[in-house]
Amino acid sequence: MSEQEILLSVRNLRTLIKTANGTFSAVDGVNFDLEKGKALGIVGESGSGKTMLSMSILGLLPQTARISEGEVFLNGEDLRTLSKKEYKKIRGKKIGTIFQEPLTSFDPLYTIGDQIAESLKHHCGLKRSEARIKVIELLETVGIPRPESVYDEFPFQLSGGMRQRAMIAMALAPSPEIIIADEPTTALDVTIQAQILELLKDLQKERNVTVLFVSHDLGVIAEIVDEVMVVYGGQVMEHTDVNNLFYNPAHPYTKALLKARPTLTTEGKRLRAIAGQVPSLEARPSGCPFHPRCEQATEKCSKKAPPMTVLENSIRVACWLYCHENEKSGEQPNV
Ligand code: SF4
Repeated sequence: MSEQEILLSVRNLRTLIKTANGTFSAVDGVNFDLEKGKALGIVGESGSGKTMLSMSILGLLPQTARISEGEVFLNGEDLRTLSKKEYKKIRGKKIGTIFQEPLTSFDPLYTIGDQIAESLKHHCGLKRSEARIKVIELLETVGIPRPESVYDEFPFQLSGGMRQRAMIAMALAPSPEIIIADEPTTALDVTIQAQILELLKDLQKERNVTVLFVSHDLGVIAEIVDEVMVVYGGQVMEHTDVNNLFYNPAHPYTKALLKARPTLTTEGKRLRAIAGQVPSLEARPSGCPFHPRCEQATEKCSKKAPPMTVLENSIRVACWLYCHENEKSGEQPNV
């Protein structure tokens, strides 16, 4: 990690969920730092724990879930010590959020413009007339044509792509320090998806905004982030920069995800799906969570979870195959 300022720091984060069958770990000892102005992707299959991780950071867990351990620092402020009211204030002002379905974030009874203006009045103290001007500017920034009329339109009047642009305008409105985007393009068709990714990329560069981007799609992740954290079973399997992810992947799960991905060369061929299923929360295996599906698993993998190993090129990987490269782990080489 360079000397740059760390904006978001997550330490040993653990989140538990209560179900009818007991209490289970959804996020299991996650650690990472995100530098100011950088974009970090969290990637994994559905059920891997990536959304629970982002919701834990946002303080938006369902009632059945709670953080049991760990810290979340935003610009040095420990978010876990905040009351619900204080957290809500931080979420509106310092953390912008973009979700998969904007219809669930916008109130159908209010116009797009009034909802964004409300956030500006509340968090930035703008008067109604000032907020209107700023909202129209923001709608224009995110590429919405005829922003003055769209200001007075209701969410259902906009197409999916336009609604997602409006949601990005809403996230940007109070000039947040970080934007957390969870599958923001998944519900869109590929053309609109490419346009939204382009927009997010431009905005990130122009405004130097820090981004935490959650997606199941490696292709989408590649478009926008500097670093990637691959998660599985609520744990970080690999944390690497985006080039290494594609050209020098280390973890067997990362390699399997890449092989399962459609590319130009796989067109017309059968894709190599990862054998087995993502285990349910209630049936996560012992040891390395990936061991039942891993082609390189040994007996040790099912018994003990591998420690995080830091490789020479700063790749962090949780796999017994690499353990001998990390003297700090104190583990003996097994390969
Ligand atoms: Fe596979 Fe073992 Fe590495 Fe897990 S620790 S990814 S099971 S080799």
